[in-house]
Amino acid sequence: MISRFVLATRNAKKVREMSPLLTPHGFELLGLDQYPNAGPVEETGATFAENAAIKATHAALATGEWAIADDSGLMVDALGGRPGVYSARYAGPGCTDADNNAKLLDELKDVPEDRRGAGFVCHLAVANPTGLICLNVECSCRGRIINDRRGVQGFGYDPLFLVPEYHCTFGELSLLVKSQLSHRARAFQRLIPELLKL
Ligand code: IMP
Repeated sequence: MISRFVLATRNAKKVREMSPLLTPHGFELLGLDQYPNAGPVEETGATFAENAAIKATHAALATGEWAIADDSGLMVDALGGRPGVYSARYAGPGCTDADNNAKLLDELKDVPEDRRGAGFVCHLAVANPTGLICLNVECSCRGRIINDRRGVQGFGYDPLFLVPEYHCTFGELSLLVKSQLSHRARAFQRLIPELLKL
């Protein structure tokens, strides 16, 4: 069994979400930040799957370890699935989460509540130390984009993403609850049995 993986992300908040999903299963996790020589990689893919594969292969080749990469984003129904793979840079190069949230609210300002459905998508790819992709899973989590930010937990679009069953945004839910429901949690729940078989 493979017991050690590099997580191919430099987003500390994503690492905080991913680590508790994996460590209970006995996996040792390394952060890419522990490898100063592993430079950045450009996410040039047109799909979440392509970007996850690019990041997993790059992290594996840069570290010589098995690597797990996540590519995720928000797909808004009224925007034809945008911002999608461009979620991180939706408001332009160098933009912040606040800029992205402001742009989303602006684009949806005339869209009524019943047409504000959206889904977070997470694609996970696992690469072996030679960079070959061995596993892929993709899961999503449905919700609705509200009109005002609510809550300070999480990151990205969390304060605008309402989970109807909980009457709360991801920004209001604790990390513990988000780690049961989110697109990323669901993708890891599906991936873990496959990791245990490697
Ligand atoms: P990635 O790092 O290329 O996967 O970009 C993902 C982007 O999608 C992030 O920068 C966020 O804007 C957004 N995103 C992904 N997952 C979440 C989440 O769980 N909550 C809020 N925003 C998210």
